[in-house]
Amino acid sequence: MTKKIAIVTGANRGIGEATAFELCQNGMTVILASRTDAGEFEKTLKEEGFDAKYIPLDLEDLSSIKNFFEEFKKSYENLDVLVNNAAVMLDDYSDSIFDLDYSVLYKTFDINLRGQIEMIKNAAPLMKDGGQIINLSSGAGQLSDMQSGFPAYRISKTALNAVTRIFHTELKDKGIKVNSVCPGWVKTRMGGESAPRTTEQGAATSVWLALKNPGYSGEFMRDKDLIKDGW
Ligand code: NAP
Repeated sequence: MTKKIAIVTGANRGIGEATAFELCQNGMTVILASRTDAGEFEKTLKEEGFDAKYIPLDLEDLSSIKNFFEEFKKSYENLDVLVNNAAVMLDDYSDSIFDLDYSVLYKTFDINLRGQIEMIKNAAPLMKDGGQIINLSSGAGQLSDMQSGFPAYRISKTALNAVTRIFHTELKDKGIKVNSVCPGWVKTRMGGESAPRTTEQGAATSVWLALKNPGYSGEFMRDKDLIKDGW
């Protein structure tokens, strides 16, 4: 049986690294799509007998995304899973929207929004019925629980949820599933030291969707379930 293929963005650290590792452990070929060199991680995974390939990707740079898919297509014809995990949080919890720096907003949008859209635009045509697109969103972008602090990040994640719904609508007839996943508050460079969850816990819902294809699409999920308060 041919191995299923997954692209994980931001696979060099944090939740992306844990996601990539678990998908490898479960028999997938995993493309480590990473801005920082993930060559050592690729080597480690291969030494453990897993199938992984590092391809450079800077989501802020459209030509880098184009080059990434050109490189991908040299080795692979199809794609089963895209985990749109990489993102930035450039503002702080204490930042007010009254002081929002538009250069921060636009840079956040370039990476957390345009980058994700561009990844999906390139990935979806490579997918068949049952393909999975998983967008790492956040409770910070949940409209029904919207609060203040890190406004650029929040707005980018709310908009990413809209992106999930729009692609879901356009791809549902092809059988491609598109979901937003909140990993919870996870101990990473972004989540900080006080966060209660491990990266494995943060990766769990994405890994479950990727491996099990439980049939959800156009949803906002956490802990392998729909988020109770909705979007
Ligand atoms: P993290 O540790 O800060 O890792 C972020 C990843 O994104 C890194 O691999 C980073 O690569 C990559 N990245 C940033 N800018 C990039 C760019 N321009 N091009 C390519 N890759 C880029 O964050 P995390 O906590 O693992 O977060 C993963 C996802 O979960 C994010 O979407 C985040 O918003 C979401 N999330 C996290 C939490 C949490 O508590 N941690 C909560 C809710 C949602 P470099 O190493 O090159 O910078």
